[in-house]
Amino acid sequence: LESNIAQAREYMARFAAEGVMNHIDGENVPAKSGKTFQTVCPVDLSKLAEVAKGGEADIDAAVAAAKAAFPVWSKTPGAERRKILIKVAEAIEARAEEIAFTECMDTGQALRFMSKAAMRGAANFRFFADQAPAAEDGAVTRTPTQMNTTSRRPIGPVGVITPWNTPFMLSTWKIAPALASGCTVVHKPAEFSPMTAKLLVEIAESAGLPRGVLNVVNGFGEDAGKRLTEHPDIKAIAFVGESRTGSMIMAQGAKTLKRVHFELGGKNPVIVFDDADLERAVDAATFMIYSLNGERCTSSSRLLVQDSIYDDVTARVAEVARRIKVGHPLDPDTVVGPLIHPEHEAKVLSYFEKAREEGATIAAGGDKIGEAGCYVAPTLFTGATNDMAVAQEEIFGPVLTAIPFKDEEDALAIANDVQYGLAAYLWTNDLNRAMRMTDSLEAGMMWVNSENIRHLPTPFGGVKASGIGRDGGDWSFDFYMETVNVSFPR
Ligand code: NAD
Repeated sequence: LESNIAQAREYMARFAAEGVMNHIDGENVPAKSGKTFQTVCPVDLSKLAEVAKGGEADIDAAVAAAKAAFPVWSKTPGAERRKILIKVAEAIEARAEEIAFTECMDTGQALRFMSKAAMRGAANFRFFADQAPAAEDGAVTRTPTQMNTTSRRPIGPVGVITPWNTPFMLSTWKIAPALASGCTVVHKPAEFSPMTAKLLVEIAESAGLPRGVLNVVNGFGEDAGKRLTEHPDIKAIAFVGESRTGSMIMAQGAKTLKRVHFELGGKNPVIVFDDADLERAVDAATFMIYSLNGERCTSSSRLLVQDSIYDDVTARVAEVARRIKVGHPLDPDTVVGPLIHPEHEAKVLSYFEKAREEGATIAAGGDKIGEAGCYVAPTLFTGATNDMAVAQEEIFGPVLTAIPFKDEEDALAIANDVQYGLAAYLWTNDLNRAMRMTDSLEAGMMWVNSENIRHLPTPFGGVKASGIGRDGGDWSFDFYMETVNVSFPR
């Protein structure tokens, strides 16, 4: 830990000295207003850097740069784009430690996960780069009199708006396919975690991405974010964040008929039947809520357990929760680090109060840890019912709500009785039951007898209030591209 902290200090010195500026048309620039805000480290709330507080004028400049770069980047052959994006992936790998350490300091997420997240950022670039050469390809269809050629072209400059939970990985998940499609990008990172977006654009340009193709404007949602969603030259908005922000963005983009792609909140059930491999189920359920600080859209935040095994399973989960190592994010042994920010910590702590008021039992955790920093204990609520706030609302922390169920019908009813529908996890050794359940569960992604294991060609996204659209595979390209048809007489 000591050597990691010393190394992090070195990485942070640069940010402290230079600040986190906007990056427009290949240049680091301050906000036009001259205003800044601070990003703090959730370990001890110390200031990490002054950050440019971008607003309308900064977004306008960044969009102008993205618009100017679009004709050249969109016409750059896919094979050439591929080469550059693979170089970006290599450059990410070369600086993976710096990215991971920076992410840990800016977000409080544990190093064991952020090291992997940095490498996943590289994998995102490689994966989408490889699809760039064929991204425009379509089909030829013929009637006796006509020949139709259907193909795709990049939609134009796009806006990417990201949250703070795993900022680097999530940004690459959006930006890599946009660039592979031939779009140019204006990225508005989350105000709580702006640091790795600076690294990404720096890395991308050092790897050969032309200026103006990727631009970054820091700032708050209500000004920089809002302007980006309203700008007439931005053709689409890829957004990851809260459901209510998604609906604001939809309203803001309505005037300019913005194409939107939303990855939003979740309250994902993990459903454990009495015929399941309980050891594996407990292991996966605890991993999915107590890793990444529970600040994870696909976290399994509701544990639905068949009543015959409810006491056994919840006792095992409580035991795991109590043993989890909470600590400094740079400690290689840490599983749960400090939450992102005192504001978010206050939100999570408020659910401990709510749980007590609503009559749930706090079987593990339920407290803040220490005075300094945003540390909360991994928590398990038992004896909850599905109408409680702790069962309905996304807490976005290491907080699990356990609810008993009787049978399949009951499990389904409880699982589906929330506004969200991002992911669901099912544990049973009965294949027919698994088929019946997955047929009726309201979720965009389901894992049977498994934790969340991603395969990039598969679709990622939610139903209900959890999102609109899918990422992954060719779905990402479909979002960033227009499909056009040209018909010729034969
Ligand atoms: P948030 O919605 O508060 O903010 C996300 C981004 O939107 C930030 O960059 C913010 O500045 C910007 N924003 C806020 N108001 C805006 C406005 N009016 N116009 C334009 N932009 C605006 O979300 P958050 O608190 O940063 O992130 C946590 C949320 O993200 C959780 O709900 C989580 O489930 C969700 N999330 C979803 C996925 C997914 O794939 N489904 C992945 C990660 C996180």
